[in-house]
Amino acid sequence: MPPRATPQLEAVYTAVESGRDHPNAQQVWERVRRHLPAVSLSTVYRNLDKLARLGRLRVLRLDSGVGLYDAVGRTHDHFVCEQCSLVIDVELQSVPVESENRLRGHRVLRQSTLMYGVCGDCGADSGAGAIRS
Ligand SMILES: [Zn+2]
Ligand SMILES: [Zn+2]
Repeated sequence: MPPRATPQLEAVYTAVESGRDHPNAQQVWERVRRHLPAVSLSTVYRNLDKLARLGRLRVLRLDSGVGLYDAVGRTHDHFVCEQCSLVIDVELQSVPVESENRLRGHRVLRQSTLMYGVCGDCGADSGAGAIRS
């Protein structure tokens, strides 16, 4: 990183990247504090914003307003369980032909789909008698 790659910035990035579990800012803060005990939550927020602007992190904004962070690597989409907030990486086909026709004249640089539903643990079959492991 050319100018001003602070230890906080790298620690925040590592906390997101190493987990691969789409942590929220609070969870990132807890991880960063193990290495940098003095870091404040607002510093973590500032560095998360910065990393997103630099294109190193992706922010998934949930309907609830909570932001989840994801390291940018291969392109993938997400499934979100509305009951337990589990976020799962899924890989979808690229833009369907039909949408491509509607996008004529525009160039897609990135694609991000958020799917909402109920995960297997929360009982995809309406929940009746679902066994939680
Ligand atoms: Zn769930
Ligand atoms: Zn992801």
